[in-house]
Amino acid sequence: MNVSVVLFTSDLRVHDHPPLRAALGPGNETVPLFVRDPAVDGAGFAAPNRLAFLADCLGDLDSGLRERGGRLVVRSGDPVDEVRAVVREADADEVHMAAGVSAFARRREDRLRRALEEDGRRLYVHDGVVTALPAGAVTPDGSDHYAVFTPYFKRWSSERLREPLAAPHKVRVPRGIRSEALPDRADVPSVSEGLAAGGEKEGRKRLTAWLGRGADAYEERHDDLAGDATSRLSPYLHFGAVSAAEAVHRARTRGGPGAEAFVRQLCWRDFHHQVLAARPEAAEDDYRSRSDAWRHGKQAEADLRAWQEGRTGYPVVDAAMRQLAHEGWMHNRGRLLAASFLTKTLYIDWRAGARHFLDLLVDGDVANNQLNWQWMAGTGTDTRPNRVLNPVTQGKRYDPQGAYVRRWVPELAGLEGPAVHEPWKLPGLERARYDYPDPVVELPDGLARFRRARGQD
Ligand code: FAD
Repeated sequence: MNVSVVLFTSDLRVHDHPPLRAALGPGNETVPLFVRDPAVDGAGFAAPNRLAFLADCLGDLDSGLRERGGRLVVRSGDPVDEVRAVVREADADEVHMAAGVSAFARRREDRLRRALEEDGRRLYVHDGVVTALPAGAVTPDGSDHYAVFTPYFKRWSSERLREPLAAPHKVRVPRGIRSEALPDRADVPSVSEGLAAGGEKEGRKRLTAWLGRGADAYEERHDDLAGDATSRLSPYLHFGAVSAAEAVHRARTRGGPGAEAFVRQLCWRDFHHQVLAARPEAAEDDYRSRSDAWRHGKQAEADLRAWQEGRTGYPVVDAAMRQLAHEGWMHNRGRLLAASFLTKTLYIDWRAGARHFLDLLVDGDVANNQLNWQWMAGTGTDTRPNRVLNPVTQGKRYDPQGAYVRRWVPELAGLEGPAVHEPWKLPGLERARYDYPDPVVELPDGLARFRRARGQD
């Protein structure tokens, strides 16, 4: 009989789980393990919204394993020490886990591999669990990663993905392995009021509903801020409650323009992961320096606060920032507008914006968050690094009736149609009826400052 440990990280599911599948076999016993690592909390990655969502995911993973005769073992501490301890307790021969892409994940893998080797055990790291295509599986000539999305997408689309794996029928866990109590979402303080429920069952339900009807209008409506016509699968993908490979596979099987557009977005996710895997320092450093001298000082700090609190005086930016605070999630068009406004119109360092997003986003992850921020700041992979999104014209285009603004900025609820995007244009007396701030900066001034800074004037 073979005994193994499966270490779960960003892959909290029983369906399409290569490490779990590899560990199971006739007569084998397996310890499904999750280690709560205080270093993750210490590094500022444990935001309340993600901790609450994680608690849901762990609860659901435990119930998925119990339905198959197993259970989840949870420990807290350094993952290497904890895995080692569990391996000894269970007298396991091997450990299986998914490959990660961040510098943090790869250090953890290396340390674990070495520690297990010292104990005469083996670590098996499985690719293509967190992303649809493993990071680094395809590379252009002369480089270790793709720096431009379109050629990556072309290559990615021609690659054969592995077939999704069914959930196991039976999971046998050795007796006597101690587990801490599972965390409970109700114990996590300061969670956003409108945070979605986590877990594999919820994620799979959403994926099925999305591919049933939801994706039909995706191609035309994905930018419609008020329409909320995107999948909202990002947190489930982030925690691995839904498998990216399975989502691609099922979307391709379904077919149609909406499903194709959805697959393209999933490729963006893989794209950023392969950039981060090759350039882990891009989590903090400019991927392509533009020699920015970002604003500092009291005024810049006040502007940053106004942006964080949704009080910039630009309704669509404020609506997006308030959606983030309320739901722990923001529409992609809102993320683009909010990031362009902070980095370009206010010329504040993308790292400050990325930090605030990571503090709140339930789907916040280093690859997608930092690299999308860099993309919008023009320090990343965007081939038009100096593009600036105008929050008024964008607001009128993507929220033409102002419904998104009215939903999140109740102070402006009395305004109809596109006027909601320019409250400062109202005649004096009418303007006074709305308790809403004046713009923190005039758009032409912000644009001129940015162009000067980038040597574009
Ligand atoms: P859908 O439109 O339904 O797309 C399906 C899936 O494709 C998403 O769930 C996501 O996994 C992936 N996807 C879509 N767009 C992108 C993209 N531009 N980059 C990478 N993957 C994408 N996404 C995150 O998952 N985590 C983050 O921390 C994150 N931070 C961002 C920060 C900024 C400044 C910007 C501009 C974008 C960020 N995104 C992030 C990407 C994108 O906004 C979200 O993935 C998307 O809004 C999630 O909603 P959805 O699931 O309804 O997406």
